Amino acid sequence: MEVTFNKTKIIATVGPASNNHEMLTALVKEGVDVFRLNFSHGKHEDHAKVVSYVRQINQELGTTVCLMQDLQGPKIRLGDVENGQVEIHAGDKIKLVCDNSVSTATRLSTVYTELARDVNPGDAILIDDGKIELRVISTDKDKEVEVVVIYGGPVKPRKGINLPDTAVSAPSLTEKDKEDLHFGLDNNVEWVALSFVRRAEDIVDIKRIIAERGKNTMVVAKIEKPEAIKNIDEIIAATDAIMVARGDLGVEIKAEDVPMLQKMIIGKCNKAGKPVIVATQMMESMITNARPTRAETNDVANAVIDGADAVMLSAETAAGAYPLETIRSMSRTIASVESHGEVFNKISFPNNNSGSFFSKMVIAHACTLARDTDAKAIVCMTRSGYTAFNTAKHRPKASIFAFTDSPKLLNQLNMVWGVRALLYEQEDSSTDNMLTEFRTILTKQGFLETGDVVVNITSMPVTDRTSANTIKLSRQ
Ligand code: PEP
Repeated sequence: MEVTFNKTKIIATVGPASNNHEMLTALVKEGVDVFRLNFSHGKHEDHAKVVSYVRQINQELGTTVCLMQDLQGPKIRLGDVENGQVEIHAGDKIKLVCDNSVSTATRLSTVYTELARDVNPGDAILIDDGKIELRVISTDKDKEVEVVVIYGGPVKPRKGINLPDTAVSAPSLTEKDKEDLHFGLDNNVEWVALSFVRRAEDIVDIKRIIAERGKNTMVVAKIEKPEAIKNIDEIIAATDAIMVARGDLGVEIKAEDVPMLQKMIIGKCNKAGKPVIVATQMMESMITNARPTRAETNDVANAVIDGADAVMLSAETAAGAYPLETIRSMSRTIASVESHGEVFNKISFPNNNSGSFFSKMVIAHACTLARDTDAKAIVCMTRSGYTAFNTAKHRPKASIFAFTDSPKLLNQLNMVWGVRALLYEQEDSSTDNMLTEFRTILTKQGFLETGDVVVNITSMPVTDRTSANTIKLSRQ
């Protein structure tokens, strides 16, 4: 029987509900392509165990599941709270102090020392995903801010604080992030996600650290600040991938503005050939229920139709009661949408002044050929991932099989729409031999059958593997 797979990838966050070998294996079998390690929680030793389980599972199942380390970033939080909870009420005038003391109902405290310096009168301060809203009356620009409570409620320890009107001065990589990043790089995570990105320089900075450590880990820029929206074109140009991080984004800007921003960001990423992830609350009710709501199923379907490379789950798989059912349900929804064909063949041709014009042109034409011959597969060789990323950009209906000699890239490509990567280490093969071998491997693995049309994207001479310059059309 022919082996088929979804084009849109699934990212599952690992946590207490899933951080063991048995559950991780079951999640992969249900369709997880990428595991997210959330460094806002957990100790290094816990993350290290998950890393080794996932590597082991890839060996056992012959999969190429990859790991995405998600750095906490400069997340601003409350400190401890008296008796575990205090209640504040609309209209109360209270203080917010930057001394990491224990919060009381009249004097909340944050661990972020620069808050009084950063905010200005009139700025909103949102606590616990915006459930509580404060407005700044005055600040001493040192340690103390006077605020009025707009929406009150229970205040609990260490809840997140968002400052949507404020230019936050905290660096994009905190000391904790740097330590965590070194841990991730030493453990060869394939992707690292940077939280609260504000400008392209944030990406340049983290890429410098990665390069200094001698690694080629790819970077995901999490879009969750209004400043990131303003600088979106430069951020997309600088990064390897984007995440529409709707949790914080929906607090930092109006929640009702997120749907159109999601479409705008996805459109720009598709055009640039950069993978884009849609994240947060996709199947939120499945934390406690075995079935999603109709609205959640629609949300996943719409992200796929919008053009997401990957859809992401957070607490559903990290702490929920139904991680397997969640993946099964998400995977079926993706399969159903993809069976309708609207997501395919978004072919666009490059301008002749764009970089790598020839290889981009070859790839666009290969996708056109695949469309017009109803090809089963587009087969390429890729060293940097460039050909695979740029083929996926056109959303071909044919499966994209990317052969690479890099074990790191092999797994990295598992996050990219429609791409199935395979390891091929035979350096000295001729182009003819290579193409024949690729088709033999794919047939053995059940991806191709006699009569299938195959489009090969390759380079001639074979030593020139940096740029695609040749298309071969054949029937299996
Ligand atoms: C988000 O805010 O949507 C997100 C993915 O980030 P985190 O879960 O780290 O807050």
